[in-house]
Amino acid sequence: VRYAEGKGWYDARVEPRGPIAMDPATAVLHYAQEIFEGLKAYRTADGGVSMFRPEANAARFRSSAQRLAMAPVPERLFIDSLEALIRVDRDWVPTDPEGSLYLRPFQYASEVFLGVKPSSEYLFLIIASPVGSYFKGGVQPVKVWVSRDYTRAAPGGTGAAKCGGNYAASLVAQAEAMEHGCDQVVFLDAVERKYVEELGGMNVFYVFDDGSITTPPLTGSILPGITRESVLRLAADRGHAVREEQYSYEQWRADAASGRLREAFACGTAAVVTPIGTVRDGDGEFTVGSGEAGEATMALREQLVAIQRGTAPDPHGWVHRVL
Ligand code: PMP
Repeated sequence: VRYAEGKGWYDARVEPRGPIAMDPATAVLHYAQEIFEGLKAYRTADGGVSMFRPEANAARFRSSAQRLAMAPVPERLFIDSLEALIRVDRDWVPTDPEGSLYLRPFQYASEVFLGVKPSSEYLFLIIASPVGSYFKGGVQPVKVWVSRDYTRAAPGGTGAAKCGGNYAASLVAQAEAMEHGCDQVVFLDAVERKYVEELGGMNVFYVFDDGSITTPPLTGSILPGITRESVLRLAADRGHAVREEQYSYEQWRADAASGRLREAFACGTAAVVTPIGTVRDGDGEFTVGSGEAGEATMALREQLVAIQRGTAPDPHGWVHRVL
């Protein structure tokens, strides 16, 4: 779908995937005015297809657009476009119980000019791609690397928006994590370099010995994950005391050593809920609990996966039926 100032959104179409020709002065290539989303469509038990919380992705896309000074795609158009694509690509939604159709809506500045100002033309596109299980051979606890040198987002910056620039800023830290044998980087806050914010592509949660669960608050420099919000609700439903509060890396290490911290997990669309087993930094490493997947983590994971796939009741109305 295209947008031009004065004209609005026009020219919606579904096309076979292929290259996009771009002028070398296309604004996005120079000023990174680009936003995206990630969500999944699932094959349901009766052979139908549903999406998980596309309304939440539409709302986050809108607020990302506002932060990046872009014309927002109307939420109805966002969801209608996803549905239209799924209808055409229905056979691409995997039937295997671990698979799903990953959907990647994105929008970029397509106007051709050099000069720092918002574009007046945009392209909104969606890619659909079948994906298998995130974990080969069952859920494995991940190792994470705490970045001391790099932060991802500062107060007043774009951390709460899902824009390409945030990931550009995070790649050097992700590379460092991988060099140290870790799967994901953990970012600390940019001001005090003290509080845990989130992982490279996931939000983070802690489970304590009294059964309470905490996650960092939405301070403006972390992504408001849709899985995060879903886990907060399910954890409360399951009787956990749930808090959104700052948690320092020092406290994480101390609570893991004393046994007060029982479990830690990360969550996001791709992996749903992932236990965090080992935490590493430049000085050494520690394990959370036994280093294995924790009980509360796995119970939350199983319930969320079951809701997404339509094999458990959907008390919050998250499942959006398409076919
Ligand atoms: N934080 C970051 C930086 C992410 O890239 C993602 C993945 N979109 C998340 C958190 C989790 O968000 P969601 O649950 O909406 O996938």
